[in-house]
Amino acid sequence: MISNLKKLWFAGLAIWLAFSLQNCTQPSTDKAAAANENTATAPDEFYGPEDFNKVEKFDTHVHFNTADSTFLNQAKKEIFRLLTINVNPAYYPPIEKQRDIAIQLVQAYPERIAFATTISMEGFEEPGWEEKTLAYLKDSFAQGAIAVKVWKNIGMELKDRQGKFVMIDNPKFDPIFDFIRQNNKTLIGHIGEPRNAWLPIEQMTVAGDKNYFSKHPQYHMYLHPEYPSYEAILNSRDHVLQKHPNLRFVGAHLGSLEWSVDELAKRLDKFPNMAVDMAARIPHFQYQAVSDWQKVHDFFIKYQDRLIYATDLEVDNEQQPAQINKNASEVWRKDWQFFTSGEKMKVPKVEKEFNGLKLPREVVDKIYRKNAEKWFLGIAKNKV
Ligand SMILES: [Zn+2]
Repeated sequence: MISNLKKLWFAGLAIWLAFSLQNCTQPSTDKAAAANENTATAPDEFYGPEDFNKVEKFDTHVHFNTADSTFLNQAKKEIFRLLTINVNPAYYPPIEKQRDIAIQLVQAYPERIAFATTISMEGFEEPGWEEKTLAYLKDSFAQGAIAVKVWKNIGMELKDRQGKFVMIDNPKFDPIFDFIRQNNKTLIGHIGEPRNAWLPIEQMTVAGDKNYFSKHPQYHMYLHPEYPSYEAILNSRDHVLQKHPNLRFVGAHLGSLEWSVDELAKRLDKFPNMAVDMAARIPHFQYQAVSDWQKVHDFFIKYQDRLIYATDLEVDNEQQPAQINKNASEVWRKDWQFFTSGEKMKVPKVEKEFNGLKLPREVVDKIYRKNAEKWFLGIAKNKV
């Protein structure tokens, strides 16, 4: 009896195991079949994390304040080419020195880096400023500059003899912009600040802005109500685009319209020769994706030809090269995850969770490479 019962028990176990195993294997067989079907109908519609090290990418907004090339090797490893941008904050080396560094790097690593020059505002009201500035640009172009940056000191810092702020639509800039256009170069404009700059620190939407404006109170416009308003500064920028419709313009930092994809869309509709770089403003997309993922996703699909990937990474002698590389690698990979995956994500600069945008491959190719090549002519002259 006992042995018969045992036999029955074993037979039962065998049948149960057979069923269980079948149930286990069944779904994965289905999955495999589905995957095969997908590959057959839509090959490689999306990129995965493993593609990060295979896809050619640009980061079109970095600042090299040293000729140390450690970071360029990191960029090479991670398949990035760079655009280093000269700019004139007081805490940076003089712009001539920045240009020397850039030229040195471009000559040594033409396949890896290009550069944007900038203009000096010294003596803006003195006679000869225009000639001097045009000569500096001519020289910069001859040495390989592919773009020119204007910075937020215009509109937020410099005053004329009457004590009024110099705005970017001041007619004295017109011959400069004409010259840039005639030379088929791109104007990069970091004009204004994130709208958060006009708010008290505790009301700012992302941690990066809270941190920056705590450390740079001179640009925290909430503390300076006598300065031009956010709207006045952006209107002056828009006025330049109206006056120079054929000038190729890249608004740095999402053209200071980082807080609303709707507002940014309006400007992109109005100015067909305007694109924007995303430098240091991706958290603002992520912040908007917390409450309206679909809207941000659809914005990327609609304006896929006007958005250029960039970070604003700084390379100088004060940081350890290993630290710069580690930081860059983390930022680049996290951004890649945001654009390519649909995963739930958390980043230090945004308080709440949001989902990745899971953009199609062709859109990812545009924001990482094709748009850079289109909006910064000559950036890809020296193919890897
Ligand atoms: Zn920058």
